[in-house]
Amino acid sequence: MDSINKLPVTPRIFHDESMEGYIARLAEANDFPNVDYLYSHLNYKPWKDSSIYLQALTKITGQDLAGFHENFLSYWVKKQLAIPTISQKITRVCPYCLKEVKYHRYSWSLIYNMTCPKHGNYLVWGCPDCLKHFTLEDVFEGRCTYCQKVLSSIKSMSARISINFPAELSHWSSSTYWNSFVDIDTFCELLRRLMYLLHRYFPNEFGFDLSNAEQKTLALFGYVRESQHQAELFEKSMSLLNRWPTDLLLFISQNREKDHASKVKPFIQKLFLRNRNYLLNSLMRKTYEREWFLNKTVYDHIYDAPLLEASQGSFDETHLHIEDIALLSSQPLININYYLGSHKIPIENHPRNRGQTIRFDFYKQHIEQIKQC
Ligand SMILES: [Zn+2]
Ligand SMILES: [Zn+2]
Repeated sequence: MDSINKLPVTPRIFHDESMEGYIARLAEANDFPNVDYLYSHLNYKPWKDSSIYLQALTKITGQDLAGFHENFLSYWVKKQLAIPTISQKITRVCPYCLKEVKYHRYSWSLIYNMTCPKHGNYLVWGCPDCLKHFTLEDVFEGRCTYCQKVLSSIKSMSARISINFPAELSHWSSSTYWNSFVDIDTFCELLRRLMYLLHRYFPNEFGFDLSNAEQKTLALFGYVRESQHQAELFEKSMSLLNRWPTDLLLFISQNREKDHASKVKPFIQKLFLRNRNYLLNSLMRKTYEREWFLNKTVYDHIYDAPLLEASQGSFDETHLHIEDIALLSSQPLININYYLGSHKIPIENHPRNRGQTIRFDFYKQHIEQIKQC
């Protein structure tokens, strides 16, 4: 087969089609005995750089595929953003998209993609009749390969909110605190952790239960197969990571009042003090130490404890704590203070925790010099 320059039949790829799905379509259109035949021609290894395969595919299909890296499911597997499975052949689907054109959209295989941007419904994880998780094979067949249910006949509930990855993680880039201090992978790690802890300690916030196996998958990957349930967890967690940490403190405060005190303490300790990622752990610890409110026993004894108010969230959106900047730039606090003083950068005390802060704008202007001071 090495001698084949161009395949006889070359259907065009769709811009949002998974490469694995496209390769299967190519194999079928050309009457290959099976898709592995084509993979072995490409000498395909999921962990290798996809450029080699895109070159080979460009050659045998005659269409320019050079920019299609993100269409490989393996690209998302490496980033730990694909639905976790041993074979990586598992996917959610939009039945309405399948009714229009039958091919596999790569976004269906991504953990944080829960709704269809075109039809506004929740993606469907499995067959409503036999409860089999859908695979790429079901998509090609257009039916459940176990019970023969036609995929395009499945009804899917319209979504209250639209959650489409990666656009949805723009929350990260619009949050001053998070996008200044952590990369998107670290942010996702925190998100996974928060989703898991919220469900574990405050299940009444959500209208569903998860089996032990599902709780484990949630903790490890941030994935719940029912997209509607994952969307609820996702939305709640994102809202608590906004305006960090005011909104989370308000949530904790409400739950203390609701007499969920026994849940609140382990929730706080696990979220703030037991992160495996070093950077995340340091940042969360700093927040924990700063916010007296989190350590209720200390808080109880502070006579003039600052009030917790929603309006403080806007301060959190525009200001960063100097001690966090020191941590992130690996500079001693004294150097940073000296730098800020000599550049006449105004220091403001946080209205709640009294910590020293500077405006985010100043941080952005000066970060490179601060790192070298
Ligand atoms: Zn759709
Ligand atoms: Zn079925």
